[in-house]
Amino acid sequence: MHRFRQFIGGEFCDAADGRTFESFDPFRGTAWAEIPRGGAADVDRAVQAAHRAFTSGEWAQLTPSARGALLRKLGDLIARDAAKLAAIEVRDNGKLLAEMGAQLNYLPQWFYYFGGLADKVEGTVVPLDKKGFFNFTRREPLGVVAAITPWNSPLLLAGWKIAPALAAGCTVVLKPSEFTSASSLELAALFQEAGFPPGVFNVVTGFGAEVGSALVEHPLVRKITFTGSDVTGRAIAASAARNIKHVSLELGGKSPNIVFDDANLDDAVNGAVSGIFAATGQTCIAGSRLLLQSSIHDAFVDKLVALASTARMGDPMQPDTQVGPVTTRPQYDKVLRYIDIARGEGARLVLGGGPATCGDGWFVQPTIFADVRNDMRIAREEVFGPVLSIIRFEDEEDAVRIANDTAYGLGAGVWTRDLGRAFRMSERIQAGTVWVNTYRAVSYMSPFGGYKDSGLGRENGISAIEGYLQTKSVWINTGAPTGNPFTIR
Ligand code: NAD
Repeated sequence: MHRFRQFIGGEFCDAADGRTFESFDPFRGTAWAEIPRGGAADVDRAVQAAHRAFTSGEWAQLTPSARGALLRKLGDLIARDAAKLAAIEVRDNGKLLAEMGAQLNYLPQWFYYFGGLADKVEGTVVPLDKKGFFNFTRREPLGVVAAITPWNSPLLLAGWKIAPALAAGCTVVLKPSEFTSASSLELAALFQEAGFPPGVFNVVTGFGAEVGSALVEHPLVRKITFTGSDVTGRAIAASAARNIKHVSLELGGKSPNIVFDDANLDDAVNGAVSGIFAATGQTCIAGSRLLLQSSIHDAFVDKLVALASTARMGDPMQPDTQVGPVTTRPQYDKVLRYIDIARGEGARLVLGGGPATCGDGWFVQPTIFADVRNDMRIAREEVFGPVLSIIRFEDEEDAVRIANDTAYGLGAGVWTRDLGRAFRMSERIQAGTVWVNTYRAVSYMSPFGGYKDSGLGRENGISAIEGYLQTKSVWINTGAPTGNPFTIR
């Protein structure tokens, strides 16, 4: 067993009451790491440390350029240790080493990009309508940020929050998922090595109900940035509303992947498979509703089943494995439950449909249902596993109607060779990201977030830093008469 410790005020420590819990390897189904089980006392220490660093510590004294330099240094250290961090994530969440390795190699870019942005945050001079005053704005950091992350891509999704928050001048308390805490604690060691002042970045570990909610409720936290399920997101938004805190939410999806009959069908088949079976379907942007135009429906389903049935399941550490296990035991049970629900609703199973035997891990067969109606639960609720629903459509109008008939709005794919159609569809689909003739592409430069119930706010891209800033308006009297004290100026 590997033992990890929390990171509070620049030091590694156990939980205040010494409790721990186990983190599991989903491929072997066995515990591999011991993680501190934090509580309200740990949260309070971490938030106090972050608040001290924000208000009076060295961090508050640093120039934005110096902050940026530290972020870039951290990026270099992440690049150096990417392979090690990726291996830890695979141990924890069972996603392919190929995928986690690529994510960790890419992660430094967030710290380079937002590090470069730190000293480009500018206020403005306001060309006032009143004589005798000079008015300008300052862009100031919000304060202590609580970052709460899920288990599917722990460090990548944490980086989307930490990099812009620190670039803005905020300090951060990170609460990783209880299923995948280890890599965030390993990241903390790199903050220490890079020379960040104590308290700028803290990690508290434990369960949502014990650590997450204490963090969200803490009076010194000014902003909560959350990625996870919509149920938790709603609870966090309600708490933020009660306490007048800033909040951004990246929640789930039921994204349509739409194939028109004029598409390059081989590319579209690849896109459909990677949309749902990459990461074992455990991604918020999974293309879990495949919308097929009637004229190509049957031929496409045949091609798709032929390709998906070749997927090699196995040890996620092995380079030739294509589909890994489901990350957690509860998630495994949930995916199997949804397969039963789809069967019960009358969807036609064309591939998979149950657990897969592969070592001792939590494996589910890549599963495809055809003849799904968009009002079935399997088409409306997020499964977060390797289960695809195929829905038939007739024409563009029909495709738009079905695509938008969902509570979610995170991503969408459109496969067509018709440029006009590509533009029309990208305009009409209600989703934060529309991919045309590709799927699952993301970049630190390109805004990411949800429409409708998929969330509030955007991560990535220049404007992401705005989510951690507030504006102050400064008035200087350059010679205006005092005037009547009982009226507004
Ligand atoms: P989850 O909501 O169960 O947990 C997410 C985090 O919230 C964990 O750290 C958890 O401990 C914490 N948490 C739980 N209850 C809490 C509470 N009451 N107060 C504060 N924190 C609490 O989600 P999950 O199962 O870890 O992740 C899967 C979900 O995340 C899926 O719905 C998926 O779509 C979503 N997701 C979204 C994106 C995106 O960018 N939109 C990316 C990845 C995952």
